[in-house]
Amino acid sequence: MYDIDKVRGDFPILAREVNGKPLVYLDNGASAQKPRAVIEAVTKAYSEEYANVHRGLHYLSNLATDKYEAVRGIMARFLGAGSEEEIVFTSGTTEAINLVAYGWAMPRMGEGDEIVLSVAEHHANIVPWHFLRERQGVKLVWVETEPDGSLDAEKVIAAITPRTKLVAVTHVSNVLGTVVDVKRITEGAQAQGVPVLVDGSQGAVHMPVDVQEIGCDFYPVTGHKLYGPSGSGAIYIKRERMAEMRPFMGGGDMIREVSREAVSYNDPPMMFEAGTPGIVQTIGLGVALEYLMELGMDNVAAHEARLASYARERFKEMNWLNVQGDAPGKAAIFSMTIEGAGHAHDISTILDQKGIAVRAGHHCAHPLMTHLGLTATARASFGLYNTTEEVDKLVEGLELAHRLLG
Ligand code: PMP
Repeated sequence: MYDIDKVRGDFPILAREVNGKPLVYLDNGASAQKPRAVIEAVTKAYSEEYANVHRGLHYLSNLATDKYEAVRGIMARFLGAGSEEEIVFTSGTTEAINLVAYGWAMPRMGEGDEIVLSVAEHHANIVPWHFLRERQGVKLVWVETEPDGSLDAEKVIAAITPRTKLVAVTHVSNVLGTVVDVKRITEGAQAQGVPVLVDGSQGAVHMPVDVQEIGCDFYPVTGHKLYGPSGSGAIYIKRERMAEMRPFMGGGDMIREVSREAVSYNDPPMMFEAGTPGIVQTIGLGVALEYLMELGMDNVAAHEARLASYARERFKEMNWLNVQGDAPGKAAIFSMTIEGAGHAHDISTILDQKGIAVRAGHHCAHPLMTHLGLTATARASFGLYNTTEEVDKLVEGLELAHRLLG
């Protein structure tokens, strides 16, 4: 049984008011709130257990290193990786995808090689590939979403040619909530010898993930959406791919020896972790992952599916509300416009007056917005602590926005 009152009680910020109204936090797609366990772990790490990791031989450094390194195993368990050596810590998904672009893709792609992407990608899974297009003549091949916002896995597979070197697709769209059949895409791509990167920024937040079952080669996640600290994150990299990678950033910790003439590198995954990392952020992320595993990601997914279907029912009553994407099984992420209402920012401002936090804008997904013929939407994205009562408050707020703007 999912005890929503207990879950809400775990998140101190949910007790506060905004603009004189109880906070209704529906901006989880941008960043999620933190449970007390994470806040306390971060405070404890700084108050009692802080030092730099990996380098010291003193007590606190060893303690911090043990706590930090333990998160590699927790992350491996959370993602279903075969080994913690397949986990590289990063500051988030953006750094993780850049690591793949610089460390794996750049040395092995040249003029005319192709990367298959969907139009529903976040800029973090587009711009690093544009670097390869600009600098090395790599061609970006785009697959469009269907009218219901779904991404047809067969169309992604059909876009693969003998020149394709990588398929990079999101697990869940941060704008439409569409869940992509990344297992089928991976199967189809790998049958043609093409590795697959699945952007797990939104996927790992909303459902249980097993990277070995998906079979993908790269699966980045970001800590701040997983109810952990910002500046933390990781990427699962299949062992064979990691062996093919060259280092991305150079500096301390990623080396074995440095002389005037030469440098030799640490073993992977350390080879890809240069400099002092987000020590406490990562320790906090480990606690967030344990919190999620204790709740059970299948329970989280079931709770959010109930919220999504309730919201979809309520939105159907509002014939002036345009919700983008209605793909079956979509995650509880709703991008909306109101007929006749000027800009999505106005919707968000009106909702804010009611204490309801949503995001308005292009959601770092320009190609998708262009495909949808929109410049901006107001996005309500639900998390594990949201309730059907909050859906009702959102509906009331949208009705007010419609009266004022429509
Ligand atoms: N990909 C997707 C699908 C996202 O939603 C986001 C965050 N909005 C990112 C990538 C970027 O992640 P980060 O915040 O870790 O840079």
